[in-house]
Amino acid sequence: MEVPYLDLKVHHAPLREELRVAIERVIEEGAFSGGPFVESFESAFSSFCQVEHFLGVGSGTDALLLSLLALGVAPGDEVVTVPMTFVATVEAISHAGATPVFVDIDETTYTMDPLKLEAAISSRTKAIIPVHLFGQMADMRAILEIAERYGIPVVEDAAQAHGAEYQGCRAGSLGVAGCFSFYPGKNLGAFGEGGGITTNSPILAERVKMLRNHGQTEKFNHKVIGLNSRMDGIQAVVLEIKLRHLEEACRLRAKHAAYYGVALDHVEGLALPATGGQRRHVFHVYAVRVPDREGFMTYLRSEGVGCAIHYPIPVHLQEAYGELGLRRGSFPVSEACADEFVSLPMFPELT
Ligand SMILES: *Cc1c(COP(=O)(O)O)cnc(C)c1O
Repeated sequence: MEVPYLDLKVHHAPLREELRVAIERVIEEGAFSGGPFVESFESAFSSFCQVEHFLGVGSGTDALLLSLLALGVAPGDEVVTVPMTFVATVEAISHAGATPVFVDIDETTYTMDPLKLEAAISSRTKAIIPVHLFGQMADMRAILEIAERYGIPVVEDAAQAHGAEYQGCRAGSLGVAGCFSFYPGKNLGAFGEGGGITTNSPILAERVKMLRNHGQTEKFNHKVIGLNSRMDGIQAVVLEIKLRHLEEACRLRAKHAAYYGVALDHVEGLALPATGGQRRHVFHVYAVRVPDREGFMTYLRSEGVGCAIHYPIPVHLQEAYGELGLRRGSFPVSEACADEFVSLPMFPELT
């Protein structure tokens, strides 16, 4: 039996006719870049996230960059995040001109360890970006408590955490901004690139609106130096249809995770993911830890079971970040996880 790591075709199959009709409406209206379809999805996704504002942008990477720019992050500043993340979190910091400063992750949830956060804060820290890795929110209460004490805004990297919760609050609703990705493989995926920013701040929302559209308030009146990062009409209609099924998809992912938990509980040498207190994990990725990763993955593949590694090299050890001069041993938990993580098949339609 073949078990793919991810199967998008089976996910889209029941929606294909509805999606086709919606895409044709975009063609009919000619509303391709921003416009009414994007506004409609923005309103639907802001309700889903329990926030006042949601702004669609070009990608999750742009969502992070635009949030930092909207907060005024600039060269000379530092932004604190984790090294166990997709590189985009850190790229956004670099493209804003700031220097990334890392905090290791916690052994249990694989998210920012709040006990190590304070040591990473300096007088130049302008933002903190916890990453809700694999679909589980970071320990936001502890992180926000420290951030508020220093007056530093927290930007959530919620690219893997659509619908995740912490003490009943949705991902993207606790920080000053929350950044989402709608890359096709994410829990809510477009038919191409897409991303967006949640916020309860009307000021930040206005700044993002300006920045994502060349810094203009009205056509050809440019207040600030922005970029081109509008959401496509076609992506918006696709996302709005798929959003209606997201709650059910989260439920199915959790069900599969529970099944893995029971079936794999007593396998020696296998560490299963744990959900931290008062959290709803949406299992974008179901990652186990295995000391003999090579052997384990070879075996899975020989049995026709798809698997992947998220992420084999922590960002501080990437060649691209060699200038930071950080060696192996700097962030031992992230490094051990990078050596041992294996992601098992996980998608709503998994049987
Ligand atoms: C996918 C992802 C991003 C980037 O999103 P894109 O839409 O691919 O640009 C950022 N952070 C994390 C944690 C991600 O998983």
